[in-house]
Amino acid sequence: MPSSIQAMTTEEFMRKEVFKSHDSSGSDTRTRRNNLQTQYWKVIPNEGACEKCQAMGQGVHWEKPERPHPNCKCEMVEGSILVGRFGKIDGWRDTASEQFTAGQSINVFIRSLGPMAGGAHIWVDGSQHTQTGHMLPNSSRTYHFTKFGELPLTWQVDIMTDGVDNCTFTYNITN
Ligand SMILES: [Zn+2]
Repeated sequence: MPSSIQAMTTEEFMRKEVFKSHDSSGSDTRTRRNNLQTQYWKVIPNEGACEKCQAMGQGVHWEKPERPHPNCKCEMVEGSILVGRFGKIDGWRDTASEQFTAGQSINVFIRSLGPMAGGAHIWVDGSQHTQTGHMLPNSSRTYHFTKFGELPLTWQVDIMTDGVDNCTFTYNITN
């Protein structure tokens, strides 16, 4: 089985079924409106929170949930699957690590700033590995990665210069 395919465990399935919950207003907060929606909410139940609040704390909401009862002191945080990571690696095995939430695909754009030709390694989630090969100064390449799972997905991208000590690369990770 390719490492990019993640099977849903029984536990995840149970959670998904049990907590396809609605907020107190009765509206379904669990359904993403469309593929362009990037904003989500997470409920972090207060210590000793009631069952309803605990349930709301599972997974994410794609619509801001209403508090199930007065005096609810649970925390609510906003998240986003909109990715915009930029950076630079420079010199011998310089490495950049980025962790973020996103959807089921990302693009990694690499540009060589020279002054020598060189390449870079890209790892996604520590397993999917790609090498750019030699890139001339001012050339760029884009790599597309996908994986399956329930949104938002956590991604880990590591980029390292390919054993060259006189090369600079910029990277740009987007949806
Ligand atoms: Zn609460």
